[in-house]
Amino acid sequence: MTLRSLPDRKPFLTAALALMTLAALAAAAISAEPRAKDLFGAKKLPAVAPAQSFGFYSKGCFTGGVALPMDGPSWEVMRPSRNRRWGHPAMIALIEKLARDAHADGWPGLLIGDVSQPRGGPMMTGHASHQIGLDADIWLTPMPRRPLTFAERENMSATLMVDEKTHLVKDALWTPAHTRLLKRAASYPEVERILVNPGIKKKLCDTVTGDRSWLRKIRPFWGHDYHFHMRIGCQPGSPGCKAQEATPDDDGCGKPLAWWFTEEPWRPNKNPDAPKARDLMTMANLPKECQAVLAAPDAPSLAAVTYQGGGAAAVAAAKPQPSEPAKTISDSVAAFPTQASAFAPTPSIGIPLPRPRPGN
Ligand SMILES: [Zn+2]
Repeated sequence: MTLRSLPDRKPFLTAALALMTLAALAAAAISAEPRAKDLFGAKKLPAVAPAQSFGFYSKGCFTGGVALPMDGPSWEVMRPSRNRRWGHPAMIALIEKLARDAHADGWPGLLIGDVSQPRGGPMMTGHASHQIGLDADIWLTPMPRRPLTFAERENMSATLMVDEKTHLVKDALWTPAHTRLLKRAASYPEVERILVNPGIKKKLCDTVTGDRSWLRKIRPFWGHDYHFHMRIGCQPGSPGCKAQEATPDDDGCGKPLAWWFTEEPWRPNKNPDAPKARDLMTMANLPKECQAVLAAPDAPSLAAVTYQGGGAAAVAAAKPQPSEPAKTISDSVAAFPTQASAFAPTPSIGIPLPRPRPGN
């Protein structure tokens, strides 16, 4: 039996070995596929083309980017070595407009965190989104009176506004000026969402009187305890830009917010070492146009693509296009630890608080 079966088995074994070799080769080829974050992270200047966003906030790229100047009358760019002060011209114009308006409201000036890379795309570190030039992080620390040095912009710590244990705002730090700043940012029609820590959302829910309609745009999310994240909608001239879901009409202060003060959102990640989506993306995962965006020639110089004011006029000219129907974006949020996403309504809970720890 054994002797007879050997000749039969040999071809099978050979085939199996060949298959295994092929599989190993294929795996090696996949791992050798360059990561999109390395390719986009290496670009120092934007692609010269009309401003256009391709794909989704967490899976895309853009052309026609402009840089926010390092300094303005009422803003300063933080962490300049990251080279993330690039955005769609409408985004950069809006940051400048917010800086002016907030200053008029009594906020000394804005400290600007990450916007996008010159051509967007996934980043080497941090951020699932910020890929299509329509997201910006703005510190909740007011601009100091004297100009910050380069070293200070690189190293200065931001102020944590939220107690990490209770997830509540530190009352000694929160001021009416913080509320006014968020209200001003939410007041612009192009702004669709502002992401803040749940503690900050709760503080607003508990204290804002009069007009509360703007609270709809203020969305609770992990982190965002020293900065807020301002996201604008897809801009005219970007048919390939994928809109996010519309926010619900209410102020979001009820059960969806209460969910954040349960155990569930804060359970340790079961798989903390699992790679994030942005770490795995290859060019094949991005819209096909992003290959051309990557290959396009550089802008002639940094000065040529640094935004030169005109803020209010440019923002007024860039009227938001009619919103597209909401789309499913489950693939882009798979990396998040729970079902909540920065692009979708917060999951509601249907039971009273406090919610018991599972298994108790
Ligand atoms: Zn952000």
